[in-house]
Amino acid sequence: MTKVKVDYELCEANALCEAVAPDVFQVDDDDMLHVLDDEVTEENRSRVEQAVASCPRAAISLED
Ligand code: SF4
Repeated sequence: MTKVKVDYELCEANALCEAVAPDVFQVDDDDMLHVLDDEVTEENRSRVEQAVASCPRAAISLED
């Protein structure tokens, strides 16, 4: 099973990942990023991959 991992040291909470995959990533009012569901599924895979590509800090990775 593939899982979403975020390096919180790199993340600057600009919510670009949330813009493409709001069902997976959410930045709260305190500028903290939360992974709502870390499981990569057939249904969300393309959006998660878009989020990985759109992160300017390269903070998101996928792990098997
Ligand atoms: S796009 Fe990257 S830097 Fe921006 S909130 Fe998401 S993980 Fe953090």
